[in-house]
Amino acid sequence: MSQDCVFCSIVRGEAPASFTHQDDTVVAFMDIQPITQGHMLVVPRAHAAYMNEVEETVALRTFRIARELSQLARIVFGAGGVNLFVADGEVAFQDVPHFHVHVIPRYPNDGFGLVFPPNYDSPPGRAELDTIAAAIRNAAER
Ligand SMILES: [Zn+2]
Repeated sequence: MSQDCVFCSIVRGEAPASFTHQDDTVVAFMDIQPITQGHMLVVPRAHAAYMNEVEETVALRTFRIARELSQLARIVFGAGGVNLFVADGEVAFQDVPHFHVHVIPRYPNDGFGLVFPPNYDSPPGRAELDTIAAAIRNAAER
C-alpha cells in the first residue's frame, strides 16, 4: 500500500469508487473520466507501479477479470467490442502509478481512436524484423 496513491485509497475504502468487481486480489470500478460508456479499471489490491512489478499470479487475475468484464460490457451496454489498454510508464500515458488495466467498451463511431506515427506507412523489412526478434529472444534467454 502507498499512502499517497489514489488507487490504494480506493482499495482501502477511503476514497469513493463505483465497484464492478471485488475479490481478495483485484478490484474493478468505473473510470471517473470514461472514454466510452462502461469504461472500467481493473486494479490489483497490492500496490505496484509498473506491470513488471506485479506478481505473475496477480497479473493473470487482473487480466482474467478484465476479460470477464469485457464480456459483461457487451451484455450490459451492448458494446460491439472492447479494447483492453495498459498504460505502463509515463511515456505510455500512465496517469496513476499503480498498475491497472483499462476495459474500454467500444461502440460504432464512439470517437475514440489510435494515432499512428508518420513512419507507419513504411514498415520494416523481414531482415529488420528478424534482427529485432532475435534481440528479444536473446534478452529472454539471459
Ligand atoms: Zn497504489
